[in-house]
Amino acid sequence: MKKFEYAQPKSIDEVFQYLEDPDSVIKSGGIDLLDLMKEDLIAPKRLVNIRSINQLSFVRENEDGTISIGPNVTLSELADNEIITKYFPALREAARLIATPQIRNAATIGGNLCQRSRCWYFRSIDFDCSRKGGSHCYALFGENKYHAVLGAKSGCAIVQPSGTAVALMSLNAVLVISNGKNEKQLDLNEFYVEPAQDITKETILENNELIVEIIIPKEMRNYKNRYIKLKEKQSYDWPLADVAVALKMNGIKCEEANVILGSAAPIPWKSKEAEFELKGNRITKELARKAGEASMEEAFPLAENKYKIRLFKIVVYRAICEAIGINPYT
Ligand SMILES: Cc1cc2nc3c(=O)[nH]c(=O)nc-3n(C[C@H](O)[C@H](O)[C@H](O)COP(=O)(O)OP(=O)(O)OC[C@H]3O[C@@H](n4cnc5c(N)ncnc54)[C@H](O)[C@@H]3O)c2cc1C
Ligand code: SF4
Repeated sequence: MKKFEYAQPKSIDEVFQYLEDPDSVIKSGGIDLLDLMKEDLIAPKRLVNIRSINQLSFVRENEDGTISIGPNVTLSELADNEIITKYFPALREAARLIATPQIRNAATIGGNLCQRSRCWYFRSIDFDCSRKGGSHCYALFGENKYHAVLGAKSGCAIVQPSGTAVALMSLNAVLVISNGKNEKQLDLNEFYVEPAQDITKETILENNELIVEIIIPKEMRNYKNRYIKLKEKQSYDWPLADVAVALKMNGIKCEEANVILGSAAPIPWKSKEAEFELKGNRITKELARKAGEASMEEAFPLAENKYKIRLFKIVVYRAICEAIGINPYT
């Protein structure tokens, strides 16, 4: 690891002063950032530690009924929070199932949303792949067991690894992003960048921008929501397939449906095909199965990851059933 300066700002204003220098990088829990530095994949001149800024750590119910989450809330705090547990079991479950208790105590939701791909070629300094400015993707014709089955035709087959992103996207979450001078609100489904748009970036964030708040709209409290994650190693692991669904129900009729697939594509993947099957229909096990099948209609597996297609069909089916209280196993 190269030497670096460690800045400890005391306020958000001070954070933005540091971020005016393009050599400064935000550090929150530091779990992903320090991994990248230890692997010599990045060598920032200065880390700006935002972890001790309490103004960025809150979960609150606003007067207009929206729920706000500060980016510094740790994954443990999120999983234990009463408001999140009451209204958004999908988000609670996504946070609860990430990594180990020690990591969840340090890792924050802001950092979790911004973590970089786990592609092993990307994480190794020995492979100068397209995402690092090289000429080709090693995964497309190499070791691709954990790579994308959707949206990977454009030269990079990473999967976006954030579990909380999958749950938050199903809840129509909005990010508040600031550079100290201007603040903007952005739907989370516009935050991630597909390789065809820019293969070197995974999110739209600029170096001087900070996520200052995550907002879940009021009406999402009335959606039945569920998150399920399948992993290879049961103790702790990144997902092989994870799915979040949020359904607006009127009796057993589904009025609105969000079905988001994680570890399927370079971005958290909104399955329009599965949503189409559900919207406007009475949900039965047969329909949930049909939605599972539909979620993989456009899949384009690589040599070693065809198994994911079957996993996603099953997880989508289970998540829909469990969201509305149907036992998927009977
Ligand atoms: C063994 C292991 C298993 C794991 N399993 C999973 C898993 O199953 N699912 C999963 O989702 N994750 C998993 N992770 C990843 C882990 O959850 C993330 O690395 C962690 O959440 C990152 O959060 P952090 O606060 O440490 O971020 P940091 O490492 O501090 O930062 C990560 C990135 O986010 C940026 N950043 C941080 N906060 C902000 C902000 N407020 N605004 C703008 N940019 C910001 C930083 O600049 C940096 O680029 C695992 C990690 C390990 C080590
Ligand atoms: S999948 Fe993306 S990150 Fe991995 S080797 Fe290919 S271009 Fe690089």
